[in-house]
Amino acid sequence: MSLTFEFASPAPVPTPAPDRVTLFVDVILPLPLPKLYTYRVPYELNDNVVIGGRVIVQFGAKRTLSCIVAAVHETPPKEYQAKYILEFIDDAPVVTQPQLKLFRWMAEYYMCTLGEVINAALPSALKLSSESRIQLHPVFVAEGSPYPLDDKEQRIVDALGGEDGKALTFTEVGDLLEVASFHKVIKSLMQKDVIFLFEQMADKYTPKVVKKVRLAEHFVTMAAVEQLFDTLASKPKQVDVLLKYLQRVPVHHNEHLNQQGIEKAALTSSPHLSPSAVNTLIKNGILEQFDQIVSRFPLEENPLAQMPFQLSEAQTTARDEVMTLFGQKNIVLLHGVTGSGKTEIYIDLIRNALDGGGQVLYLLPEIALTAQIVTRLMRVFGSRLGVYHSKFSDNERVEVWNGVLSGRFQVVVGVRSAVFLPFDSLSLLIVDEEHESSYKQYDPAPRYNAREVALMIGNFQGAKVLLGSATPAVETFYMARQGRYGLVSLSKRFGEAGMPEIELIDTRKLRADKKMHNHFSSDLLSAMESKIAQQEQVILFQNRRGYAPVIACQDCGYIPKCQSCAVSLSYHKHAHELRCHYCGYHEGMPTQCPACGSRALRTQGFGTEKLEDDLKIMLPQANVQRMDLDTTRAKNAYQQIIGDFEQQKTNVLVGTQMVTKGLDFENVSLVGIVNADAIIHYPDYRAHERAYQMFVQVSGRAGRKGKKGKVLIQTGDPTQVIFDKVIRNDYLEFYAYEIEQRREHEYPPFTRMIKLTVKHMDQELAQKAAILLTQELVDRLGRSVVLGPEPPYIFRIRNFFLQEIVIKLSREHTVLKQAKLDICAAMDIVRDQKEFRQARLVADVDPM
Ligand code: ADP
Ligand code: ZN
Ligand code: ZN
Repeated sequence: MSLTFEFASPAPVPTPAPDRVTLFVDVILPLPLPKLYTYRVPYELNDNVVIGGRVIVQFGAKRTLSCIVAAVHETPPKEYQAKYILEFIDDAPVVTQPQLKLFRWMAEYYMCTLGEVINAALPSALKLSSESRIQLHPVFVAEGSPYPLDDKEQRIVDALGGEDGKALTFTEVGDLLEVASFHKVIKSLMQKDVIFLFEQMADKYTPKVVKKVRLAEHFVTMAAVEQLFDTLASKPKQVDVLLKYLQRVPVHHNEHLNQQGIEKAALTSSPHLSPSAVNTLIKNGILEQFDQIVSRFPLEENPLAQMPFQLSEAQTTARDEVMTLFGQKNIVLLHGVTGSGKTEIYIDLIRNALDGGGQVLYLLPEIALTAQIVTRLMRVFGSRLGVYHSKFSDNERVEVWNGVLSGRFQVVVGVRSAVFLPFDSLSLLIVDEEHESSYKQYDPAPRYNAREVALMIGNFQGAKVLLGSATPAVETFYMARQGRYGLVSLSKRFGEAGMPEIELIDTRKLRADKKMHNHFSSDLLSAMESKIAQQEQVILFQNRRGYAPVIACQDCGYIPKCQSCAVSLSYHKHAHELRCHYCGYHEGMPTQCPACGSRALRTQGFGTEKLEDDLKIMLPQANVQRMDLDTTRAKNAYQQIIGDFEQQKTNVLVGTQMVTKGLDFENVSLVGIVNADAIIHYPDYRAHERAYQMFVQVSGRAGRKGKKGKVLIQTGDPTQVIFDKVIRNDYLEFYAYEIEQRREHEYPPFTRMIKLTVKHMDQELAQKAAILLTQELVDRLGRSVVLGPEPPYIFRIRNFFLQEIVIKLSREHTVLKQAKLDICAAMDIVRDQKEFRQARLVADVDPM
């Protein structure tokens, strides 16, 4: 039978009861559609309608999709005949009311569709479609399943059980069961951990499973344990195993610890214990063996280290100030220098919020969400903590999603997309490193900033929001200065650690004096040498990956460029390739100039790969590792590099901005910024702010525990104003200067910006469309607020020619709201022109 998703039993009832109502639902489809679609609810399923629950509908001729019920009413749509809902999946919401409210706000504020927001929000395993596939779950064992399976479920399991890793599409499942409504069966199997779902073959989920053991449940009381020892008195080997277990998992202090158990291998591979005694205990039902999927965060199992640190006096004062300010304000900025111990303050505040019964969301930039921090939090919050990382597989995300819904996770630490999770009773949100640009999503829509979304969630749910940073965003500090946010400062590092000493190195002068060795000054080299000799570690920062950003022919000047983008190709030595950093295009490194045939091809400039290479020659005694996009593509590569550095297997860590963010290594005493100038001279009004933040943050990695840290900054012009502020670690002075610049040039926080980008494969049409759009905008908003159109610095990416228009608006809410409507209208006019049908128009609100 081929599967059609017609409603299974239309059940035409001849005489409808008089009080019977016809219900309609508006659904959010996970597609960029401008409005919601209305479907009809079959009478007999009126009671099944759940706002925020998923239903299956037919959309278009063939496609069936799951979507979210956003509203229920009795008004049939005017423009079309409503189709019936095919199936109800959930009997409880997967999207909560507060989420729906938030998603609506996001769509409006960020000028996109609700479908785009939902699409970004829901893990794809919650977005069933006819192309979805299922597979047996790796922890499922047919004989030992703790849940009974019904006949339909068993048939699916049998069909999947054949060869290893066999998958079925939904269509195949429908054929197999010979019914159209099978989503409930699938959902039930997923809940029982029998199957899992994935969208594409490439996504196949192969989690790591470990065998663990724990004490069988009825032995978990003090009395039972004592009795157990009595009964085992004549079996010393088994007693040893038990003692070891209790030592690792002190259930007599806290029974809940037993739940997690420990890895079986920790017992069987111990030289002092007998593996067969372990197995006997399992066989006799004293220990219980179970499988657990281990997270990509290798957590130490150390249940004894449950206690968080004792806050220092300065930390206690700051914590108290935050609490007091929360009495008056909803938002507080914690401005604490790098290494001042902000994390411990967060932990204390989280505990407090949890004690009060609320949920907590702790946001971190992707790069700072490491095993380090998760371990620290796990120790305090144990199984109440959910972790939400973008590199997680979809199933792991669904687990967190459901865990938040069910109340299992009361606190979640996550990256920007964690703002989408189904919280409904948050009492605290923390946005650490709130200045970070990685909180902003560039592409695709919604182009949101998780910090701003967090503020809105706080507003909707009546929760407090704590923003933390050593280098707050200028906008944030302005709000604090205005009294809109509370402000708490921590100006000293935790413990004995002082702020690092920062020195400038004048590379132009040194080059003239022949004291530069490639890109290294003798000062930097000798400082590195001496630190390594003292077994201390070094971080080198260069904001460019690859070997060289440009290669050029020495004879004719030819520079290889990307075919699809307006950029030169970067040379990657290891791969022996030229690569485009914008579209991923790559080709082999030519041996001679494609233009004139000369063999004199030289590299210009340098990236992290070249630094790594040079160091291997100049400091052969050092163990150098590189951390950038190229070395961290594999799922665990990033953790690996950080782990090696943490365990001091590596002396020098060379990297892009990845090394600047929130990492806490105790043995780093030297940080080198190899080329500061490229960071300062960037064509953007935020360049100065970004450079300041980067310098201070990367400097902040030095000397965090006791040892005096040193930072060497290489620059061709040490007189640039920014250095002075970095050296004196004077945020206030930086801010005072910067805010005046912003005021003078009417940049945020004094205005709000919306950037519109017009993209077209044809350069001329891109320009024409941009001119028309500008005209339409000027007509509606006035000339003075519309800037452009202008091609951006990189004016062509992935074959699209770009034109940008920037709109600067007053910050008043009503003005903003109206302006967005006007902008949408202007964009629609351009989109409706036949000539520009191939054009793409993108709005980016609060671009970064
Ligand atoms: P920040 O986030 O402000 O840069 P961290 O929270 O990472 O600083 O703290 C810096 C270092 O000081 C960390 O290694 C942390 O473990 C340590 N630390 C902070 N507070 C305490 C405390 N109260 N007791 C012991 N160690 C602490
Ligand atoms: Zn040439
Ligand atoms: Zn390209």
